[in-house]
Parts: sequence; structure tokens; C-alpha cells
Amino acid sequence: MKKKVIILGSTGSVGTQALEVIESSSELEVVALAAHSNAELLTKQAAQFNVKHTALAAQDDISEFVKNTTADIVLNAISGAAGLEPTLAAIESGKDVALANKETLVVAGEQVMKAARDRGVQIIPVDSEHAALHQALQNISPDLIHCLILTCSGGPFYGRSRQDLEQVTPTQALAHPTWEMGPKISIDSATLVNKGFEIIEAHHLFGLPYDQIKVRIHPQSKVHGIIQLKDGNSILVASETDMKIAIHYALYYPHRQPTNLPHLDFDESWTFTKPTSEPLEGIELGYQAGRANKGAEFVAANDAAVQDFLDKKISFLQIYEQIKSEI
Ligand code: NDP
Ligand code: MG
Repeated sequence: MKKKVIILGSTGSVGTQALEVIESSSELEVVALAAHSNAELLTKQAAQFNVKHTALAAQDDISEFVKNTTADIVLNAISGAAGLEPTLAAIESGKDVALANKETLVVAGEQVMKAARDRGVQIIPVDSEHAALHQALQNISPDLIHCLILTCSGGPFYGRSRQDLEQVTPTQALAHPTWEMGPKISIDSATLVNKGFEIIEAHHLFGLPYDQIKVRIHPQSKVHGIIQLKDGNSILVASETDMKIAIHYALYYPHRQPTNLPHLDFDESWTFTKPTSEPLEGIELGYQAGRANKGAEFVAANDAAVQDFLDKKISFLQIYEQIKSEI
């Protein structure tokens, strides 16, 4: 029997890549698709994958849609805090969650992880760093962990002066050096607020205190996550810079399956450094918001600030100022 998958946010960057993964799989079947308002693409996808159940958040209740559709796993690739309720609906209705929507955990990590534990469902991260850590942590007892390391490409502006950063335009901030992503997460990667979110996401997913979660700049984006063990060993998980690899892992978990996805050539140098250059504030704000339990405020303030930046109402560095005033 094929594993039945619901894709939320199917018209976005992660959603369309998930459909590519499913298209080339003989063991996964997409049974329902949802998006916000892109009816044209949703209809096209439904026809292509022979999907009978579709919903648009602009007119339907996505949480009810999730609860009322029979499936084994829900891939939540919705952007923003709107992803939280559908995640809770999936958990409540006993479906595993392949979670790309990091805001779910940043906004309400404790509640979501408790609901998943109580209901006995799995939350399998799709965010590449967390998918890597999830793999590294298989069969590792929590009291053996010294720390987790999230890698970070640094984004398009790492190492620039504050003076330079003040002049950055939305077009420049939308171009990421290593990953191809939706517009919102591209800006968050440029400010490194994305890494701030990921620190909070890791804290909740893996149940570790913030002191045991570190970030290292790794511009090649090949090693995605590292765990350091108390016995002196480190476990690194590396792959090509392709979200389909993390999506594939999460949809198949706990099984592994061969794919035609690219392999690493191991023909280049990899570097890891402590984050010491600008822009650093995105990371610092993540620790600050996480420790103060203000993930929801962090997400909301960043959403508003990013929109203002895209509308050219504020400068790049003012994004941080606006967030700081809210958390
Ligand atoms: P996109 O902006 O490319 O796509 C967002 C998707 O969500 C679209 O399908 C959109 O529909 C849909 N959507 C938006 N609001 C709602 C809503 N209220 N209800 C239902 N569907 C909605 O985003 P990404 O694919 O880049 O990112 C998705 C999530 O994955 C984010 O949380 C992001 O942080 C995370 N992520 C993304 C990565 C990437 O490489 N892109 C990597 C790691 C994590 P419509 O098209 O109709 O607007
Ligand atoms: Mg990530």
C-alpha cells in the first residue's frame, strides 16, 4: 500500500519540489493539495496527480480539510504563522507531519511537541538543518549530546560592513547564494533571522537548552547539521544543496529509499567558522526571543518588518530595530 500524503502549500517552493519527489516515487501517493489563493496552479497540480481533494485558504478552512482527509502524513509547506493551526489539526487527527513550516515551532513549539507526544504522532523536520540533525540523532540517547550545530551559509551579505548593509535593496536581498527558496525565507536568510528561527525550531524539536545549540558559518551549504557527542565524536550529515533530499527523507521516514537525487562529489573544501561578522543580529535575536519565550512576537515583528522593507518603507538594518522593539 502506498503512503498517502497531503501537501499544504503545494504551489510554493517546497510544495512544488515535494510533488517532484512524489512524481518519481512508486511508494508515495498524494491524496490532497492545498494552497492560499493560486487556484490556477492548484487545479493544474490536481489534474496532473489525479487528486480529488483540494482547498484554498482564501475560501476554505485548511484545518478542517486536514482533519477530514484520510492520509498517513501531512507535508506542511505553508509559509508563515498560518501554518500552525493546520499542523495542530494534523496532529489531532493522528497524522504524522513532515514539517517545512518552521513558524509552527517558533510560534508554539512547546504546545505542538506536547500535542504530538500525547497523540503519538511523529514530527519529521523538512528544514534542511533539522532534517540533517534528525538523521544524526537516530539511536543517540539525549544525555550523550554535548551540543547541536546548525550550519548557516551566511546569506548574500555575510561579511559586509554595516554601512554597506544600510544600502541593501530588496532585489539584492532576494538573491540567495546557495539555496533557491520562496521570497519571504530568502529575505530571512539575508538578515539571518531565518537562522534565529531555526535555533528556536531546534530547541523545541530536539528538546535541548539554548546553550547546547550553536551556529557555524559554512558557505558551501553541504553539511547541514552536526551533533557533538560527549564521547568526543561528532556526527555530520551532508548532502547536495537540494531541498528535495530533505523532503524525500521526511516523507519516507522511518524508511530509506534510493532516489535519482544528486550525490556529493566531495571535490571541494568545506569551511566552518564562528559567526563573528555582520549581519549577526538575526542569530542574536533568535537566542534572545527563544530564551524569553517570545517566538510568536519574533515571527510577527519580523513579518511586519520584512513587508515594510519590501515596500521600501524601511532600510535593511531597520528590520532588526523593528524586531527589537517588539521582543
Ligand atoms: P512559498 O512562499 O514559496 O510558498 C508558500 C506556500 O504556502 C504557497 O503554496 C502558498 O499558496 C501557501 N500558503 C500561504 N499561506 C497559506 C495559508 N494561509 N493556507 C494555506 N496555504 C498557504 O514558501 P516556501 O515554499 O519557500 O516555504 C514554505 C515553508 O517552508 C516556510 O515556512 C519556510 O520557512 C519553510 N522552508 C522553506 C525552504 C525553502 O527552500 N523554500 C527551506 C526550509 C524551510 P499560494 O501560492 O496560493 O499563495
Ligand atoms: Mg533551513
